[in-house]
Amino acid sequence: MRIGFIGLGNMGGPMAVNLVKAGHEVAGFDMASAAVEKAVAAGVGRSPAALDAARDAEAVITMLPAGQHVRQVYLGDNGLLKTARAGTLFIDSSTIDVTTARDVHAVAKNARVDFLDAPVSGGVGGATAGTLTFMVGGDEVAFGRAKPLLEKMGKNIFHAGGAGNGQAAKICNNMLLAISMIGTCEAFVLAEKLGLDHQTLFNISSTASGQCWSLTSYCPVPGPVPASPANRNYQAGFTASMMLKDLKLAQGAAQAAGAATPLGAQATAIYSLFESAGAGARDFSGIIQLLRGQPQA
Ligand code: NAD
Repeated sequence: MRIGFIGLGNMGGPMAVNLVKAGHEVAGFDMASAAVEKAVAAGVGRSPAALDAARDAEAVITMLPAGQHVRQVYLGDNGLLKTARAGTLFIDSSTIDVTTARDVHAVAKNARVDFLDAPVSGGVGGATAGTLTFMVGGDEVAFGRAKPLLEKMGKNIFHAGGAGNGQAAKICNNMLLAISMIGTCEAFVLAEKLGLDHQTLFNISSTASGQCWSLTSYCPVPGPVPASPANRNYQAGFTASMMLKDLKLAQGAAQAAGAATPLGAQATAIYSLFESAGAGARDFSGIIQLLRGQPQA
């Protein structure tokens, strides 16, 4: 299949390379020449502009930083949807606000092309290994067309419902993750003050009602889960800045939809403090250091 791929950064680059490895012809474009050169060296074709990457493609995938970039690439003056051939499949895997995703869906429908919002989790490691989780919003038929392609880049492919529901699933999940991580960190900080050692709390809580993924798979203190970032001085992993981005998207969506998310608001404030303290590039589980009063330790 001929595929256009726009946005060849930390995530998009290895995703495009996995499509090449699966035997597809991939025409890539990025505004940053370093990203292009890296992808081209791994077999991705070079296109001079986004429209060239999309021309004659059966499917076009975008992996861009934020909603404003997605709006520009799809709906701007030289936007992909201005000249799209009817029947083309567009998949946006960027993490963006639900409103922008739904706006692009509406324009795509008028242009008689299939559009899916399909954000991912799994980070750069998952993008490279082809083990991402895709959360997909859009109609069933378009999802059916996209699934074989997404399976070349990911392991778990979920249809979350109609337009924008992929983005909704992503921000709901990450808001829950941020809250559970802060809760897990608070439990360890309290245990330290009370003279209860990390491993003992882990042994008890991992089999008791406090059990959660932040504790058992991504433990924020070194020792109990050897692969977690706490064992390598909170080297990311999933950065605190990325978590803050997703929390802000969740807060925007909550305000627009009238949902009460007081712990989501608290989590956003706590990660903002962490980023202001210069710790945005650290793993998000490093938030335990802020709770101990030593964000840079
Ligand atoms: P990145 O900054 O490395 O890559 C984005 C790329 O888009 C850059 O190379 C940039 O030059 C390019 N770009 C920006 N505007 C463009 C335009 N108009 N035309 C063409 N290219 C353009 O970011 P990333 O880490 O690859 O993340 C991409 C998306 O995936 C984001 O929405 C992010 O929130 C999401 N995400 C990232 C991770 C992660 O761990 N990095 C995990 C899950 C989801």
